[in-house]
Amino acid sequence: VVSVRNLHVAYGTLEVVKGVDLDVAQGEKVVIMGPSGSGKSTFLRSLIWLVKPRQGRILIDGVEVRQETLREVRKRVGFVFQHYNLFPHLKVVDNIVLPLVKVHKLPYKEAVARAREALSLVGLEDKANAYPLQLSGGQQQRVAIARALAKNPKVLMLDEPTSALDPELVEEVLQVLEDIARRGTTMLIVTHEVDFALDVADRVVFFEGGKIVEEGPVEILYNPRTERFRQFLRRLH
Ligand code: ATP
Ligand code: MG
Repeated sequence: VVSVRNLHVAYGTLEVVKGVDLDVAQGEKVVIMGPSGSGKSTFLRSLIWLVKPRQGRILIDGVEVRQETLREVRKRVGFVFQHYNLFPHLKVVDNIVLPLVKVHKLPYKEAVARAREALSLVGLEDKANAYPLQLSGGQQQRVAIARALAKNPKVLMLDEPTSALDPELVEEVLQVLEDIARRGTTMLIVTHEVDFALDVADRVVFFEGGKIVEEGPVEILYNPRTERFRQFLRRLH
């Protein structure tokens, strides 16, 4: 579903992603880990050109990401940020409905039905008419996840979806993500939640200095090959 070849991304003269290759198959769950500043967010964002790559080739759902295909590609990707990015002046349900109507051109009624369905997947059907600021951080993030899911995306990309949350709210969001993973959604997730990765991921990718330094099945979390990944994991505990 996702295929990345020789991807390079820079901010001005600062090279941040330095030749990354990655394939994510249909239904696969891939967790990306790596130290702060290693380029994980930049990498993820660059896949849908929130940061435009300098070089490389990206295919999403069989479509090459280019200026002309960008709108189509973005429709097929659900993106969840560390900070939930909800519109505070819109009710929860309208936060989800608005992009479905504006971007996906769904009829309003159908959009509302999809929004409600997505809210029930994250256990928030009863909060449809609340405003984001009336919700806890964990609930807001679940709304952001519902908004991404309501697009019926081919791939769900999540950038540290729990790292901005108070510790007691992390589990509820991870639980929702686990449910979604079990439904067969293709997922690309930046997270340092090792237990979650062990439960959910098919593959783990370790980023450092803008490159993939190590990747493999989740078992590498128990027994990393490189000293760098071993040290990184040791520091998480
Ligand atoms: P973290 O774990 O802290 O989220 P990360 O692996 O996601 O880190 P990035 O956010 O991709 O790392 O940042 C990689 C590098 O790019 C850092 O040196 C950062 O300062 C720089 N950088 C990130 N965003 C920008 C930007 N918009 N403009 C300029 N430099 C940026
Ligand atoms: Mg980041």
